[in-house]
Amino acid sequence: MQRVDTYKHKGLRQKLVEHLIEKGISQKRVLEAISAIPRHFFIESAFESHAYQDKPFPIDVGQTISQPYTVARQTELLDVQKGEKILEIGTGSGYQTAILAYLGAHVVSIEYHQTLYVKAKILLSQLGFQVTLLHGDGSVGVPEYAPYDKILVTAAMPFIAKELLLQLKVGGYLVAPVGEKHKQRMTRVHKISENKFEQEDFGVFVFVPLLGKNGWENSIP
Ligand code: SAH
Repeated sequence: MQRVDTYKHKGLRQKLVEHLIEKGISQKRVLEAISAIPRHFFIESAFESHAYQDKPFPIDVGQTISQPYTVARQTELLDVQKGEKILEIGTGSGYQTAILAYLGAHVVSIEYHQTLYVKAKILLSQLGFQVTLLHGDGSVGVPEYAPYDKILVTAAMPFIAKELLLQLKVGGYLVAPVGEKHKQRMTRVHKISENKFEQEDFGVFVFVPLLGKNGWENSIP
């Protein structure tokens, strides 16, 4: 499908960026990424007009593209540096993946639902992003590419899985919404040494539930 990025879209993105600044997003690189990536490419064309509102939006198989504020906040908390290897759990639309790649990270992103995996793979390669996309249960991490500088979970986790902490480099961060199925707290874990971790809390967020072994349903993708 041919998608275009018009001046109107760019203008709407600029407004969104101003809104994110008002909501407290301050990392310049993150704001630049939001203003550069056409979010409307990641949403069905019929609903394109919603792309630059600060709202989550349904994609396929009952999943959602995260709200722009949430994407910006999680990215800011990750403190992405060029050349870092980042594992994203929950590719979904691929929008957050594109933001991380734009910031110069080497992104490994895993998606549970095959339809979403296929769609994101096609779209991100059309847009010229070089990322590693995988289909499977990311709740156990992706040991093949470990260790990671950062790990980003974009679905609600009932608990912080041991596997993920093991796959994180010393000095690295894991950012994840952790808690109940319908309400979580944005949590950042800093791996100080092989067995010492520090945890910070950044308030309430609502994500779709993580599936798989360390998620809410023990099913096979
Ligand atoms: N980052 C995405 C957010 C998508 S919502 C975006 O910007 O669009 C969360 C995604 O996590 C959904 O697509 C869901 O299918 C996926 N997911 C849920 N459990 C998962 C698991 N165990 N492994 C990988 N992906 C998972």
